[in-house]
Amino acid sequence: MLTSNQSRRVSKTTMECVHGDFVTRLVYEDATYVSWYFIITVTVVAVFVGGRKMYTNIKKNMAQLEVIVIGAGPIGLTSALIAVQCKRVNKLTLYEELSRFEVENRGYQIAIQSVNVSLLRSFGVDFDNLEGVWRDGCFYTRVGIYLEYIIQILPLYSTDVELKFRSKFDRETGDVIDKIDGRKLVICCDGSGGMASRYLGLSDEHIQHSTGIYGAQAAIERNKHTSVPTPEKRIHNLSFDLSAYGNTSYDEECRSNFTLKIFGNSKRRCLALAIRKGDSQVARSLKTVLDKSMMRNVFLKCFNTYKLSDEASISDSFCLNNMKFSPRLYEIKISQRIENVAYISDNNLFIITEGEATRSLNFNTGLDINIGLKSVTSLQPFIEMITVAETEHSIMETLIFKMEHSDKICKDFLKFGLKEYMFL
Ligand SMILES: Cc1cc2nc3c(=O)[nH]c(=O)nc-3n(C[C@H](O)[C@H](O)[C@H](O)COP(=O)(O)OP(=O)(O)OC[C@H]3O[C@@H](n4cnc5c(N)ncnc54)[C@H](O)[C@@H]3O)c2cc1C
Repeated sequence: MLTSNQSRRVSKTTMECVHGDFVTRLVYEDATYVSWYFIITVTVVAVFVGGRKMYTNIKKNMAQLEVIVIGAGPIGLTSALIAVQCKRVNKLTLYEELSRFEVENRGYQIAIQSVNVSLLRSFGVDFDNLEGVWRDGCFYTRVGIYLEYIIQILPLYSTDVELKFRSKFDRETGDVIDKIDGRKLVICCDGSGGMASRYLGLSDEHIQHSTGIYGAQAAIERNKHTSVPTPEKRIHNLSFDLSAYGNTSYDEECRSNFTLKIFGNSKRRCLALAIRKGDSQVARSLKTVLDKSMMRNVFLKCFNTYKLSDEASISDSFCLNNMKFSPRLYEIKISQRIENVAYISDNNLFIITEGEATRSLNFNTGLDINIGLKSVTSLQPFIEMITVAETEHSIMETLIFKMEHSDKICKDFLKFGLKEYMFL
């Protein structure tokens, strides 16, 4: 279909043929002009669009950014390991306020769930080269062993890596980062009490979610023993007889259904006791008890009954001097940072928080490292997205992507996490 304008133009194109003296005169004027004009315009536009697209593609393909990680805990170092394997990252700097020795000698035990073992394997962690023990697909090791291993393999990648131990990240360091040319990403992994994201302008506000579970904990320090990792031990459906304390609320059926977990290394043994919110009389008395000896006795008896077969029992006096424990049952909550991702356009700076700097529990499950590891799975796609994001819209999309992933981690934890970490 031609518009009236176009048909007018066609009609203006004339062709005159004079026969007889075999002179043929073709009059194309308008037709020729319009055709050439059209061809040239289309070519120019095509070259411009193609060139621009090519330029944008080349620019996108070559785009890189600098990554700064704050904190050499398990999540900071795992984030660094993931980042150095992104082709987008041209430099990685890590700030850690402790010395390398202190980091590598952290003594407590971590348990890495099988799903995270696979994830870490895909990022080059060779579990055959790590001291630890396996049980049901879980890998148990001392946290310092894991950290030392990552510190050793980080420089093996082609990305320029700078590890700054004994370097506390503060406001002044923040100013130095602002001045770095080009786009950069700061990953704050400075733990639950970390201040780095605040120095960079993120809000410190947290939201607390109840897990619907009550818990209590104890820890026994035994300096004479080695810190060789041991697998955890879980005992389900425990009940306690509190009648020895003159507790009238002791119910005959004893259906409290506590779960007890004993974990850690032989130097530091941890006990975690958890029970779903309910109306058991025993649970009610353990929630309100003010007599510390009652809780101590619960933990002492639990330890001596369910310890590993080759472990020595502990006495009343040892317990009195060496056991730290919760004086009563309390509600287990997860605290989540509300603002955990941001973009500061003036400095072309992305900021995210990971690990316990984003979410932490007021309870040690013995599997706490896993919630942080689940979150760093979105790091590589996030780095890819932020390196090429140019428009306000695409930048916003990257922020939403990370925020939604972070939210999902928390929601999944509330739905499955504690149940999976503590119960059957
Ligand atoms: C005593 C104890 C026992 C635990 N037991 C277990 C267990 O048995 N199993 C388990 O899975 N998990 C356990 N956890 C929890 C586990 O350690 C955490 O899940 C994990 O450490 C969180 O890692 P993260 O990297 O987020 O933070 P963190 O491990 O807290 O690391 C934060 C790092 O940031 C550094 N830092 C802080 N501020 C700054 C700054 N301004 N500048 C530079 N560096 C800074 C700190 O020095 C630290 O090295 C235990 C934790 C503790 C404290």
